[in-house]
Amino acid sequence: MGSRHDKEKAVNVQVLLRCRPFNEDELRNNAPQVVTCNDYQREVSVTQTIAGKQFDRVFTFDKVFGPSAKQRDLYDQAVVPIVNEVLEGFNCTIFAYGQTGTGKTYTMEGECRKAKSGPKGQLPADAGVIPRAVKQIFDTLESQNAEYSVKVTFLELYNEEITDLLAPEELSKITLEDKQKKPLPLMEDGKGGVLVRGLEEEIVTSADEIFSLLERGSAKRRTAETLLNKQSSRSHSLFSITIHIKEATPEGEELIKCGKLNLVDLAGSENISRSGARDGRAREAGEINKSLLTLGRVITALVEHLGHVPYRDSKLTRLLRDSLGGRTKTCIIATVSPSVHCLEETLSTLDYAHRAK
Ligand code: ADP
Ligand code: MG
Repeated sequence: MGSRHDKEKAVNVQVLLRCRPFNEDELRNNAPQVVTCNDYQREVSVTQTIAGKQFDRVFTFDKVFGPSAKQRDLYDQAVVPIVNEVLEGFNCTIFAYGQTGTGKTYTMEGECRKAKSGPKGQLPADAGVIPRAVKQIFDTLESQNAEYSVKVTFLELYNEEITDLLAPEELSKITLEDKQKKPLPLMEDGKGGVLVRGLEEEIVTSADEIFSLLERGSAKRRTAETLLNKQSSRSHSLFSITIHIKEATPEGEELIKCGKLNLVDLAGSENISRSGARDGRAREAGEINKSLLTLGRVITALVEHLGHVPYRDSKLTRLLRDSLGGRTKTCIIATVSPSVHCLEETLSTLDYAHRAK
């Protein structure tokens, strides 16, 4: 791969690969391992057996996190610099992309119920990117002598329709009808950006407050999941943190720095291959396909410096338009399982993620 291409992409779009450990089912069934990670070489190899012969395909990424990598390793090595950019006033986005069950939500949220910081402000080892980012943001802001505000939104995109995960609703009262009838409209704000009308925007003043919001949103997502039969594997969730920092210049002028961090837990990538769904889900599959495929095209256009970037082709890319490209940082965390049972999806995830490089 040419060094010019490498250098440009290293600045703006990073692609990481994370392979989760075997789960209990896979261990019990002695599932053969087909994915081998070499974190130091940043390589992943996948073993395929075709007509009795073994073939290895090797993929290189910006960073590779094998099954023994901890939440903290991934955060410290890949996310800290991104959050620093946000604190400097830039917009950045982190995506988790992969087959359902490979660790997207674990990577982004972790065990959020246990994520409240302890007495010493320590996070549990299982805490994912969102609680860690929130902690880094508040630790930094509190150590600076500046006025600031932190706002968050948390939404779900399903079937190209937006639902607010923070809307103050009784969880027990959410019905299937509610879920299907109250999508929020996405509108142009007249300044080249978009806004979601009616989306709840919560002002938070400490890291602990975000944990309860995150939990509220995740609980709502889980409730919807049981109602709509595994909806979350087909929906995208977007947690956004917007920071305003008031600074005074040496001349005594006021300056407001504004940065935004978007944390996206994408729909299961198996939805792409299932787009030809036979049952009544054809439209749904197509719409999910649309956001995932458009995201792929947008990232390709950015990485290859193509003139036209098709942001407008899906809701997800419209929502993220001000945070992809230009002076922003994008990080894609592709997640896979080590087991032979996921081989086909693993290869398609690796191909998709590799194309984004
Ligand atoms: P997804 O969101 O991609 O569908 P999940 O995040 O729900 O997948 O992960 C599926 C299961 O695997 C969960 O029980 C999760 O706790 C576990 N898991 C995923 N990744 C890891 C990891 N790196 N280490 C330990 N457990 C993991
Ligand atoms: Mg999930």
